[in-house]
Amino acid sequence: MTGLPWFAYRDGALCAEAVPLSRIAEAVGTPAYVYSTAALTDRYESLAKACADMPVLIAYATKANANLALLRHLGSLGAGADVVSGGELQLAMKAGIAPSKIIFAGVGKTREEMMLALKAGNTGIAQFNVESEPELHLLSEVASSLGVRAPVALRINPDVDAKTHKKITTGKAENKFGISYRRALEVYAEAARLPGLKVTGVHVHIGSQLLELAPFEQTFQLIAELVGELRAAGHDIRRVDLGGGLGIRYDDETAPDAADYAALLRRYIAPLNCEIALEPGRYLVGNAGLLLTRVNFVKRAEEKTFLILDAGMNDLVRPAMYEAFHRILPVKAPNSDAALAPVDIVGPVCETGDTFAEARPMPPVKHGEFLAILSAGAYSSSMASMYNARPLAPEVLVRGAEFAIVRRRPSIEDMTALEMPPTWRSEAKG
Ligand code: PLP
Repeated sequence: MTGLPWFAYRDGALCAEAVPLSRIAEAVGTPAYVYSTAALTDRYESLAKACADMPVLIAYATKANANLALLRHLGSLGAGADVVSGGELQLAMKAGIAPSKIIFAGVGKTREEMMLALKAGNTGIAQFNVESEPELHLLSEVASSLGVRAPVALRINPDVDAKTHKKITTGKAENKFGISYRRALEVYAEAARLPGLKVTGVHVHIGSQLLELAPFEQTFQLIAELVGELRAAGHDIRRVDLGGGLGIRYDDETAPDAADYAALLRRYIAPLNCEIALEPGRYLVGNAGLLLTRVNFVKRAEEKTFLILDAGMNDLVRPAMYEAFHRILPVKAPNSDAALAPVDIVGPVCETGDTFAEARPMPPVKHGEFLAILSAGAYSSSMASMYNARPLAPEVLVRGAEFAIVRRRPSIEDMTALEMPPTWRSEAKG
C-alpha cells in the first residue's frame, strides 16, 4: 500500500524494514525521522549498477540529508560527496569520505571554506565547481597563497528548462547559478591564465526533482559539444560533473529510471573518455526516510476537520516552501472498508503555512494515533529549524529488525548551549 518495499504494513502495522513504527514512536517519541538502511543500499546500488560500465563517481549531494550515519553508510558503499559549505565538507570527511571523492559546489564560497577544502586531508579535494569570475579570482589567490593549484570545473548554465518547481530550477539564464554557456570559452580562457588554478572539468546542474529525461538529454548534448570545443582550445578536461536532479515518486508520478538516465550518459558523455561525476541527493535518500508523527488533536471546525500533528513545518518545510506533496499514512492499518473523508493535516507551528495537506482523503484517525509522512528522507531533517523553540526531531536508522537513534532529541539545555547573557562594560543606568 505504500509502494515502497522498505516501509510496508505487516500484520496491520506500518513497519520500517522489520521494525513496527509504533515501537520506534514509543521508544524515541515523536516527531522522529526514520530511515531504512536497505533503502539507502538499494538506491545507491541501482544507480551504481546502471552506470557500472562507465567511470562514474557518485558524489552524494550532502545537502539532501547530512546525518553522519547516512553519510557513513553511503560512503561505505563507495559514494563520494558533493558539498556546498565548509560544514558539509567537514561532515563528509568525518564520515570517512576521502577528499579525493569530494566536490565543492555553491555560489558563495568564502576564503575560509576554500582554504579548508584546499588543505583537506593534505591533498585537497577533487574539484571546485566555480560559479562566477570573482570566485575564480578569489580561489586562485587563496590557492596561490598556499603554493598549490586548485582543481577547477566551471558550472555551466545551459539555459535549459528542467520542467520542475520554479524554486528548484537552477539551469535557466535568469537563475543565479553558473556561467552562461555562451561565455564558457572566454571564462575558461581566463581560468587557465590564473596562476592558482588548474582547469580539470565541466559542471552542470539544472534543477531538482526532474521527472522527465528530455532536459537532461538536452543538457548532456550541449555539455558534450562544449567539452569538444574546450579541448580544441587546449583545455585538459578530465571530469564532467552532471549534477543531481533525478526525481523520485512522492505521489503517483512516474519517476525516471536509473537505466534510462545511464543510457543518456552512455550516449552523450561516455564517448568523451573522462571521469563522470554525478551528484544525486533526493534519488538516494528521498524515499529512504519518513517522518513519524502523532495526532495531537482532531479539531472539528466550522468548515473542515483538522488533524493537528506534533510534527510541524520546522521538521518538514517542503509543503510550505514548495507546495510539495507527501503521502501520509496511519501507522495502524485502517480497516479495508474504512470510508475516506477529507481533512486538513497541519502542524502546531504558529503559521497558516504550517500545513502538510489540504482536503486529504483519510480514513478515520483518532487523537494519539501515529501517522507516517512518507518520502521525508531528503530536504527534510537537513532543512529543519528550531522555529517556535521546537527541538530538532531525532533521527533513527533501521537495519532489519534493529533500530538505532543516530541523532537524539536535544534538551532545552542543548538548544540554548550556545547562547550567553551579554556582558556590558558599563552598567546600564535607570
Ligand atoms: N548538485 C547541485 C549543485 C545541487 O544544487 C543540488 C540540489 O539542488 C544537487 C546536486 C542535488 O540535487 P538532487 O537532490 O535533486 O539530486
